[in-house]
Amino acid sequence: MGKVTDIIDEGKINGILEKTKSPNKEKVLEILTKASLQKGLDLEEIGYLLHTKDKDLWKQIFSIAKSIKEDIYGERLVFFAPLYISSYCVNDCEYCAFHCRNNIPRKKLTLKEVEEQTKQLIDMGHKRLLLEFGEHPTNDIDYIIDVIKTIYATKHRNGEIRRVNVNIAATTVEDYIKLKEVGIGTYQLFQETYHRETYEKMHPRGPKSDYERQLFAHDRAFAGGIDDIGLGVLFGLYDYKFEVLSLVSHAQYLDQKYNVGPHTLSVPRFQPADTVDIKLEHAVSEEELLKIIAILRLAVPYTGMIISTREKPETRSMAFEIGISQTSAASCTSPGGYGKEKNLEQFNLSDHRNLGEVIEGIMQQGLLPSFCTACYREGRTGEDFMHIAKPGEIHNLCRPNAILTLKEYLIDYATPEVKNLGEKIIEKYLAQISDKGNRRKETEERLERIEKGERDLYF
Ligand code: SF4
Ligand code: SF4
Repeated sequence: MGKVTDIIDEGKINGILEKTKSPNKEKVLEILTKASLQKGLDLEEIGYLLHTKDKDLWKQIFSIAKSIKEDIYGERLVFFAPLYISSYCVNDCEYCAFHCRNNIPRKKLTLKEVEEQTKQLIDMGHKRLLLEFGEHPTNDIDYIIDVIKTIYATKHRNGEIRRVNVNIAATTVEDYIKLKEVGIGTYQLFQETYHRETYEKMHPRGPKSDYERQLFAHDRAFAGGIDDIGLGVLFGLYDYKFEVLSLVSHAQYLDQKYNVGPHTLSVPRFQPADTVDIKLEHAVSEEELLKIIAILRLAVPYTGMIISTREKPETRSMAFEIGISQTSAASCTSPGGYGKEKNLEQFNLSDHRNLGEVIEGIMQQGLLPSFCTACYREGRTGEDFMHIAKPGEIHNLCRPNAILTLKEYLIDYATPEVKNLGEKIIEKYLAQISDKGNRRKETEERLERIEKGERDLYF
């Protein structure tokens, strides 16, 4: 599959961190001029930004991140929910409550329970899920495929899940081929930490202790035909500056090798969890997290970015402005947790609002909530997606699709207050759709069809 140093060259990254540790103002301004062109940054330029301390320069970095987000993705924010399927796990990740030493009852959903959980999520208004499985012989690929088929087959009232993204342990090309065939959206797998020594400390036993198995998983996924890939780091395990450079290095590697960069980058921070007792020497503050998001927005402008409910509402709001394009809401991190049953959660959450409250909050911020799943269903994945995203044209599709899916949400799931506010947001952004090629008129016509009862209309 290649060499580790093709993806992460620790010596090179440490050299860049050393070289860039005292940036002068002129250098940073020069980098910001380049960043404004929305063509991305190289590792050295990112190193200078990571070491910037000047408050005025930081104001400029945040402001450029905001305009890149607006230009490329527009005002839309796409929602998804995690669905935990099984807490059985043979690994011993030091930061996760599902580690194998934790002597607690485990839960694996039956297909009937998968269907029930799916209905709960549909009733909330969700259209996209991210499936989470521990790594265990009982969670084999055939079970995973059955779970995905069950979810896609579940229709409930006016709704259904239209895109299933998957987070499963690093696996074989044969398994990835099966995932591709069943129609997953994005395959998401985090390296957790790119720093090998820390990785080995955090994963002392189990198959996940193999750093290279994790690092080359995305290559195997590509070999299996999956071209929508999500990368991420669990911030707090090691120096965030090293992790940011490594994450971008991994993204650049994929882009150069496959002509397809990652579809998404995720920026979770470590959160306490039951029986998890690690001393964090590299804890990342909320201010640092926002800086990380802004720098990533400048570094890889075309890549979607995800924040979860690990973060509190105020931090999330700020993150939505400066770079985040997708978010979970109303999440539960235990298998069977939507509805009545409460089992062990994988980690603690900080945003406990229901989906309606989160939607209301982001509309008050002037953003446009979206449940869009159009690209994957139109075959706009991998290179095809990048051809639209890289020149910054994707918002021409995101905006009308966000409006159409928000309309469905307002009719089927919203309270009268949210509905009222939502109609105003739709009106505002409908007026901003370019009428080139009749797109605005077509959106208006489709809105009328949704009013009359049709669903699932998209561009
Ligand atoms: Fe298992 Fe994943 Fe938790 Fe590690 S992070 S213990 S692989 S569920
Ligand atoms: Fe995502 Fe494509 Fe929909 Fe935009 S149009 S929100 S990129 S699926």
